[in-house]
Amino acid sequence: MPAISSNKPYRVGRSRTGLGLFATKPIKKGAKIVRYFGPLLDCRKKKDDAVENKYLFELNGRWTIDGSVRKNIARYINHACKPNAESDVNPRKRKVVIRAIKKIEPGEEINYDYGTDYFKAYLKPIGCKCDACEKKRKKKRAEARAERLRLKAKEERKALKKAEKLAAKAREKRQQKLQERKLQEKVQARQNGHSNDKLLNGKLLNGKHLNGQHLNGNGQPKVAYKKSAAAKSRTPMKPETSMEPGTFATALGPDQQASA
Ligand SMILES: [Zn+2]
Repeated sequence: MPAISSNKPYRVGRSRTGLGLFATKPIKKGAKIVRYFGPLLDCRKKKDDAVENKYLFELNGRWTIDGSVRKNIARYINHACKPNAESDVNPRKRKVVIRAIKKIEPGEEINYDYGTDYFKAYLKPIGCKCDACEKKRKKKRAEARAERLRLKAKEERKALKKAEKLAAKAREKRQQKLQERKLQEKVQARQNGHSNDKLLNGKLLNGKHLNGQHLNGNGQPKVAYKKSAAAKSRTPMKPETSMEPGTFATALGPDQQASA
């Protein structure tokens, strides 16, 4: 880094793009900051015209300052699209001075507009990193982010609505099914009631109960009679054995008879 005497209002320091020139003292608007300085190149001379570097400052159609020399502190000044300084060119004297175009506070980076030719050739392809362009990019990024968030929220709202709709549909279907089942059960209950009557009638008609025992004394009652008769002979006083076939007691199962 170049040595800069302490009475100068600037120093070389780290900037976004590498090195830059920073104010160390307040610089008044219009004040000369530093001269852009270097050997003069005459484009009419083949040797001069062949020189190629990033620090060439064209004064006019013939003369160009080669600012790549180490002593040229002004070469550290970076480009800005909204600068706080300008290059004040005096073609007659073949001199360039960097001048403040607004008050510059200590700590602020000093910059000037390199011009459209330089911008198109060197900065546009890689993207200008000056404050104004960074701000613009930041704003764009923030806007894009906000837009993404907005779209995401919209999608989420849409998905929620869809889910709610589906849930409502499912609920409706469930309720419908439940109602159908209830109705079916009602109908079945009614039908069962009828068929029970029929069954009961049938039982009454064929004399059979659920346990298969006869109520009217056809067929099997003889066995029952025999049984009860045999039991009668053993224990004549037992009430269940004294019952005649076809009575309610005979319709009971053997367990029930035993416990009776
Ligand atoms: Zn810019």
